[in-house]
Amino acid sequence: MNLLNLYLAGLLTMALSCQKEKIERASGIEQKAPHQIVVIYAGHMEAPTGKNNQGSTSTRGIPEYQFNDNIVSQFPALSTDSLEYKVHLAKENIPLQERPSVSDKENATAYIEIHHDSAQLETLQRLQNGVQTPNTWKEVSGFSVFYSVNNPYVQESRDLAMLIARNLIAAQYAPNRYHALHLEGEQRKEIAPGVYEADFLVLKNTELPAVLVERGVITNPFEEEQLNTTESKKKFVDAVDKAVKQFIFH
Ligand SMILES: [Zn+2]
Repeated sequence: MNLLNLYLAGLLTMALSCQKEKIERASGIEQKAPHQIVVIYAGHMEAPTGKNNQGSTSTRGIPEYQFNDNIVSQFPALSTDSLEYKVHLAKENIPLQERPSVSDKENATAYIEIHHDSAQLETLQRLQNGVQTPNTWKEVSGFSVFYSVNNPYVQESRDLAMLIARNLIAAQYAPNRYHALHLEGEQRKEIAPGVYEADFLVLKNTELPAVLVERGVITNPFEEEQLNTTESKKKFVDAVDKAVKQFIFH
């Protein structure tokens, strides 16, 4: 083959592979591409300090972002040849407004943000003044998964949220029902136990299937203790990893 023929053969191969890529994309086969990236953000930021940036404060006085960083940093170890977890810690101080565009540039398949939850001040004060047992605190406990109906991939976002909830329940994590209560600042639409619609900025502005997970309630003293155990952390990370793999590969 002379040089011109080689060049033409190269062009033809390129054109064919472009065509193949288009067909795969149109039929959704690209979901089986060999290397998928899932972006996982820790909720909130370390700096500047203060409640608005750092999230809620646990019953033991630990700012929420530290719980988020601790969990999120466990995901890269679960990366495989076909699935890479790209993690952003709260201490990287990436503002909320910048998160959607940073994730788009990373060529990711999905966006997950992880938080630790609280409750309305009135509820917390009432519970703090009552009898102190795990049962009396039960109304503010458990995990929640949020997705936005204004995300461009609403169906996929909902699917991912449902898979995460299902796997967390299978791992004996209880769903949080508090966010659906008729309280000011709550009354969210719950579409399955622990799965809620919410129009959070990072969920609606990310051009990827996106969910926000509240792992548990750190302003509940009994739940905070439980969430700090190695076993509880491992169960959570494994359940989310399983859900992500089901979402991408099945
Ligand atoms: Zn938070």
